[in-house]
Amino acid sequence: MSSQGPRVVLLGKQGAGKGTQASRVAEHYAIAHLATGDVFRAAARDETPLGLQAKEYIDRGELVPDPIVIGVVREHLEDNDRQLVEAGFILDGFPRTQVQAVELDVVLEGDALDVIVNLDVPTEVVLARIAGRRVCVQCGTNYHVDSPPTEPWWCDKCGGHVVQRDDDREDAVMRRLELYEIQTLPVIQYYRRTGRLVNVPGQGDSNDVFAAVVAAIDARWELRR
Ligand code: ADP
Ligand code: ZN
Repeated sequence: MSSQGPRVVLLGKQGAGKGTQASRVAEHYAIAHLATGDVFRAAARDETPLGLQAKEYIDRGELVPDPIVIGVVREHLEDNDRQLVEAGFILDGFPRTQVQAVELDVVLEGDALDVIVNLDVPTEVVLARIAGRRVCVQCGTNYHVDSPPTEPWWCDKCGGHVVQRDDDREDAVMRRLELYEIQTLPVIQYYRRTGRLVNVPGQGDSNDVFAAVVAAIDARWELRR
């Protein structure tokens, strides 16, 4: 069966806008959006064993250990005869360590990623964004203190409560950005060597960023179609 949608990884610092862009990309290509952070937060809310385990790390701004994260991603990608791999997907927040990147290649069994988009935003900018970020506890939609929902602080989309994430407090944010430098920069190097990494500046108007992301995906995906 030939593949129907692009296979994309979206990389970027905390607050680079990965979540927003990944949702729009998923809708644009009608592909699945797998955000490991969202999976963990949902599991934590439902108090499943996975969620309770992950929450301990997340609230401190630490990374969830590789075996747990890889298990979750594996489960999603290998579900239903690898339908998701066939149909295309966008991974948001994974891989975040080199071990995860290598493991992803194994899981894909030669169905290589079409493109790895690195959403590039300077650290000063993401710090300001994260400080004002608020998120719906129910559906994960992001807001900002400068652009609250119509009815503060209840989600426009689902009516859920909109709050600051525990891990968006300053100490946890600094720790997450530090881990990004240590753990995730090597992932960017890893993908740069494949020749499929595209750098997209993530500042400015969100619609312009989206157009640039889609252009980057189309250019690489064309090569396989
Ligand atoms: P952010 O990118 O702003 O950190 P996410 O929602 O992507 O937000 O992730 C929230 C938290 O979930 C991370 O700080 C980390 O603890 C955990 N997490 C998500 N994805 C991974 C991953 N691939 N590896 C390890 N931990 C992860
Ligand atoms: Zn909501």
